[in-house]
Amino acid sequence: MTQPSFATHEVFNQSPPFEDIDLFTVDQPLVDAVKANGGAAAERELSAFGKQWGSAAMADRGRLSNENTPKLRTFDAKGNRRDQVEFHPAYHELMAHSAEAGVHNSTWTVNGKPAGDAAEVIRAAKFYMAAQVETGHLCPITMTRASVGALAVQPDLLARVMPVLSTKSYDSSFAPWWQKRGMTVGMGMTEKQGGTDVRSNMTRAVRDGEAYRITGHKWFMSAPMCDAFLVLAQAEQGLTCFFMPRFAPDGSVNAIQFQRLKDKLGNRSNASSEVEFAGAYGERVGEEGKGIRTIIQMVQLTRQDCAIASVGLMRSGLAHALHHARHRSVFQKHLADQPLMQAVLSDMALHVEASTALVMRLCRAFDRTPHDAAEAAYMRLLTPAIKYWTCKSAPPFLYEAMECLGGNGYVEDGILARHYREAPVNAIWEGSGNVMCLDVLRALSREPEAAAAVLQSLAAETKGLPGAGETIAFIGKTFRRADGERVARLAVEKLALLAAAAALNGVSPRQAELFASTRLAASHASMYGAVELESGDARALLDRALP
Ligand SMILES: Cc1cc2nc3c(=O)[nH]c(=O)nc-3n(C[C@H](O)[C@H](O)[C@H](O)COP(=O)(O)OP(=O)(O)OC[C@H]3O[C@@H](n4cnc5c(N)ncnc54)[C@H](O)[C@@H]3O)c2cc1C
Repeated sequence: MTQPSFATHEVFNQSPPFEDIDLFTVDQPLVDAVKANGGAAAERELSAFGKQWGSAAMADRGRLSNENTPKLRTFDAKGNRRDQVEFHPAYHELMAHSAEAGVHNSTWTVNGKPAGDAAEVIRAAKFYMAAQVETGHLCPITMTRASVGALAVQPDLLARVMPVLSTKSYDSSFAPWWQKRGMTVGMGMTEKQGGTDVRSNMTRAVRDGEAYRITGHKWFMSAPMCDAFLVLAQAEQGLTCFFMPRFAPDGSVNAIQFQRLKDKLGNRSNASSEVEFAGAYGERVGEEGKGIRTIIQMVQLTRQDCAIASVGLMRSGLAHALHHARHRSVFQKHLADQPLMQAVLSDMALHVEASTALVMRLCRAFDRTPHDAAEAAYMRLLTPAIKYWTCKSAPPFLYEAMECLGGNGYVEDGILARHYREAPVNAIWEGSGNVMCLDVLRALSREPEAAAAVLQSLAAETKGLPGAGETIAFIGKTFRRADGERVARLAVEKLALLAAAAALNGVSPRQAELFASTRLAASHASMYGAVELESGDARALLDRALP
């Protein structure tokens, strides 16, 4: 339909909306990475998901749920506590679509066991596509999926929860979880005096028959309308993990009192609360005193999702930038055909292609870990390294993508400003940058042989790639230093780059060579486009990124 024109001017030389596309099939690096990591059989399913999430209707839901942020209703009109958070209907629709596609649970069987085959890879491809459209709602989605990892240490509780958690239904009603069609689970660890150092938690748990009464606070507890939370509190034997439902077993509302919602830089569709527990009902998960060991099973999975979401955000930035550059003319030539813009976009495409291959390779390790010690070692050593590198590279990447759209990139009508505000949170939560580096060092010192085997296999997979040998030598030398902590960031970044080159080599060897020659053999400049690629290589990268 032709739009009525302005009286003063015609509208032209603006790119058309980047909507109603299949987010899967237009993304050749994703298609190839899914295939290389065992997910080829799911191509149709992923294409259906890609079409749904690439639709204009879904983009609109993303916009609406971020413009109409959640509201805390602490009290009712008569002063009684209500402690409910209201979300825009678009947010609930996003939740329902993610749940329907199993993004919150498809890596588990109905009994809470790992689903096997390529379940992690397939779900990751969905998570990556959904992140391109709306990331805030993925917070309860990732936490719900990850909670099963921790609940597994308490089989009786897991058996009760899974019939509700494993459905493909999203049920937003405020009701006891056992009466619902589906449920979501959040997590409460961070307190005012410490987030990284959860041992400093002051929240107390006192036995009350078989259960516990929990008293204290959490300084950050996201997605407060979840049906239950895994919470850390100090019990008699030390820090312990608890399952804290919104309703106590007698059907009364549990004593979970929200103080206020955080006013955040981004992640605005998602509510993050400050909360007090006034003798709240909780059930123990795992042994008393083993709280960190229990909840780390959940955190390992949310860290994986932080990496996937970061790459999804970058992919969206790249796709929007490339789409715009192919339609926008400057000095009688499309931006995409200007040599300097081509240099910027192709360097960005290389970064996203390597990052996509890397996170899908990581997900293959998650798929195979239950039966394969080498994959378990890969997962243990590389999850923190990959979270570190992908999450920290997303904000500057999105800034560059935004700039490719000029002024249009900076305004809230488009999605890039939202992506840019969203990106830093993935590096901060679930263990911030330094904490990830320290975790890599921990893996190296606790399981040195397993870590050495991972490095050896990365060496084999990158054999012959420019700069790979020197990178491996540097990593080995640096990690052996007694003062390794001081230089951990550089070594962890190089480890992630090496793993990315190896993963990319298994997907598309020519791009792996380009990646290695610009990132391993040479120091990549801090700005995109400051590398020299042959024009044929640059074109191939851009064609793969968006046909
Ligand atoms: C939007 C949002 C939502 C959140 N939702 C939740 C939630 O649902 N549940 C929950 O439990 N938490 C949540 N958090 C909290 C988040 O997990 C913490 O903020 C994070 O773990 C860091 O803890 P902290 O803020 O206490 O910072 P600190 O622990 O004080 O860390 C500050 C900085 O110091 C660095 N650092 C820490 N230790 C070391 C060290 N030994 N050496 C060098 N550097 C170090 C860290 O990397 C970090 O950069 C949320 C946070 C945000 C921003």
